[in-house]
Amino acid sequence: MSSHDEERQLLAEADRRALHYLDSIATRPVFPPLAAIAALRAFDEALPEDGSPSSQVLQRLDDIGSAATVASNGPRYFGFVIGATLPAAAAAERLVLAWDQCASSFDNSPVADTLERIAGRWIVELLGLPSSSAVGFGPSATASTLACLSAARRALLARRGWDFDGDGLAGAPEVRVVISASCHVTVQKALRILGFGIKRLIVAPTDAQGRIDPTQLPELDELSILCLQAGEVNTGEFDPFAELIPRAKAAGAWVHVDGAFGLWARASSSAALADGVELADSWSTDGHKWLNTPYDGAMAICRDADALASAMN
Ligand SMILES: *Cc1c(COP(=O)(O)O)cnc(C)c1O
Repeated sequence: MSSHDEERQLLAEADRRALHYLDSIATRPVFPPLAAIAALRAFDEALPEDGSPSSQVLQRLDDIGSAATVASNGPRYFGFVIGATLPAAAAAERLVLAWDQCASSFDNSPVADTLERIAGRWIVELLGLPSSSAVGFGPSATASTLACLSAARRALLARRGWDFDGDGLAGAPEVRVVISASCHVTVQKALRILGFGIKRLIVAPTDAQGRIDPTQLPELDELSILCLQAGEVNTGEFDPFAELIPRAKAAGAWVHVDGAFGLWARASSSAALADGVELADSWSTDGHKWLNTPYDGAMAICRDADALASAMN
């Protein structure tokens, strides 16, 4: 058998196993049985001297691995905020895996570049955000928040005449960050990675539903970033954007909205929940929750397209 035939057979076998797994989702326990978890020990062997036949690797992965999955790729999962994959998205993912594109630029992949541009335009239109916004695709809302917050800091410092790219942060004017008391842990993670310092974050008090209380909004100025939330992870609530954002903008602050799942309310019959969110400067959201695309896929959206591009290029 030629190696080409072997490759085709192996891919067909992977597909057969994948379809079998999908069929099992309707009946398998959502969380794997303890015995299946204990059986994962079989993977933990010393680094082998020699490789194994590909079909054997696939079989082990399926026999031991499939049994120890959380069946979140279906309608019976009610755990964290995690979406299943719709058939159309799963099918597209299969084809795209065969393409194996480096989607970094037009030269590396004309089709990826074209599809990203069109998808970005559609996303902005669906979400009712400014049409000039840049949309960057990345792995997670976490990474998208990181991208937006780096754009925010760089832009606020540039308005003060500070050259962030050249001089970095040593001696720079301090950019203050106001977060919600019920802000998602990944926003704090992004801020920490960027060097904002968890202890220096200013916390805006929230009501019982996790919404920032506008009467207690900390003071903001032209060196402030205000992080708001569309979709609090425990209550599903939205910050009162129409009230908060105009105040922040009047003070010269940058407003970022973490809308990992909730921003998509804008494209639903519940759009009114996020009224005023379009007034912000940047937004992060992902596809692998409410849109039911496969992991990973997310978008960093920024009103000032140059600010995002120059921070991340
Ligand atoms: C899930 C979630 C995130 C993080 O999203 P990832 O795409 O998994 O990084 C951030 N904020 C909120 C409110 C979330 O629900």
